[in-house]
Amino acid sequence: MDVQLALTLILIQLGLFALCWLLVALLMPGERRPALLFLASCASDAATAWLQVGQDGSLRPVASGLMTLGLLSAGLVSAGAEAFVRGHVRHAPVWLALLASGAAVAWWPLPEAISEVAPLAAYQGCFLLLLLLPVLWLQRPLRCEFGRFGWLPLLPFGLMGLAVLAFLVHLALDPADAARSYAARSDHGASSLIPFAISAGLFHIGWLALMLGRQVVRARSAARTDTLTGVLRREAFEEEFAAMLALSRRLGQPATLVFLDIDHFKRINDLGGHAAGDQVLRQLGRLLQDTLRSTDRCGRWGGEEFVILLPGLDRTQARATLQRLTQAMARAAIPVPAGCAALTMSIGYAVWAPGSDLDPQQLMAQADAAMYEAKRQGRNALVGPDAMPPAREAVTPG
Ligand code: GH3
Ligand code: MG
Ligand code: MG
Repeated sequence: MDVQLALTLILIQLGLFALCWLLVALLMPGERRPALLFLASCASDAATAWLQVGQDGSLRPVASGLMTLGLLSAGLVSAGAEAFVRGHVRHAPVWLALLASGAAVAWWPLPEAISEVAPLAAYQGCFLLLLLLPVLWLQRPLRCEFGRFGWLPLLPFGLMGLAVLAFLVHLALDPADAARSYAARSDHGASSLIPFAISAGLFHIGWLALMLGRQVVRARSAARTDTLTGVLRREAFEEEFAAMLALSRRLGQPATLVFLDIDHFKRINDLGGHAAGDQVLRQLGRLLQDTLRSTDRCGRWGGEEFVILLPGLDRTQARATLQRLTQAMARAAIPVPAGCAALTMSIGYAVWAPGSDLDPQQLMAQADAAMYEAKRQGRNALVGPDAMPPAREAVTPG
């Protein structure tokens, strides 16, 4: 392929990726830091490509310039990847130190006898660390956030790192031959640009996909979460409740559904204003989430009413859990406006036992009725199926 055509194509490719990162930086404020670092790496890669084909890289200042730009690109993508995963560039001094040491080696005038091999080894060593450290430090948090294949965008780092490692081994075994092949590789032709274009493309597409994936997951979670209390919204809870009850039915395990209603909540609003009421709801939401197990589900049914699903818990275990919850609530002593009694709740629960043919709506109705029975008993009470009056049998006439 014609060198100028190859150079034009790679500059267009990098320009398009730079445009994507610019849009990400403008439209997603939370991802601005990594987007700007990746954008800067596009600029550095474009300068590398231009310098590589436009000049004779065997000349000292140009060769040193190419090495510095290569290190700069690697440093920028490593810092950008870290900013994406951690929210900030945690190892900034490490990236800067590697970049500075590699660049110093590239520019330092060394005695002729060792100038062929020693700077090359030191420079490639810094380059290797810039590529491999992100793989070591970031693959675990990426897998935690994106699942089993979340490490895939680190692949270009790993592949380039392996290529550099292979070169270092070659340099150790046969320094003169390795130095010759290094010079020959920078042939300033189209062929040296193709691997560059492929690895840059893989890198930018992979990280753009991760960034968009994160937005989708966050939007989905925001749509399911009640903004005030942090627990599930009613619709999301109903979905999870139906799915978990179906699972309990299949596994033959019990499940308990709980309805909770704050006692005399209106008084909190009346005496402290709606901001005080909101604060109580916020703190209660946090307390419920902190107290329950990760397998339990908690939702806001509406207003000052909450629902909880306790999978695997029969009536005895559910009662013990709910007693612990009321004790935790008493200990937390969520602040209420002066003149209000300490915060209490009326709690009703219903139990799905294996073999029962109750559907989600019927179980919900039973828990709701138990909560109203707790209100009837004077509030600040816990009412389960045992304390409920038996359901009246339908009397068929005749
Ligand atoms: P009871 O013991 O019988 O449950 O009495 P209560 O005062 O808790 O119940 P009631 O249904 O009379 O009042 C509930 C109040 O909750 C009325 C409503 O204004 C208030 N409320 C509903 N949603 C919110 C909210 O998001 N924020 C605040 N601050 N108040 C809310
Ligand atoms: Mg209510
Ligand atoms: Mg209430």
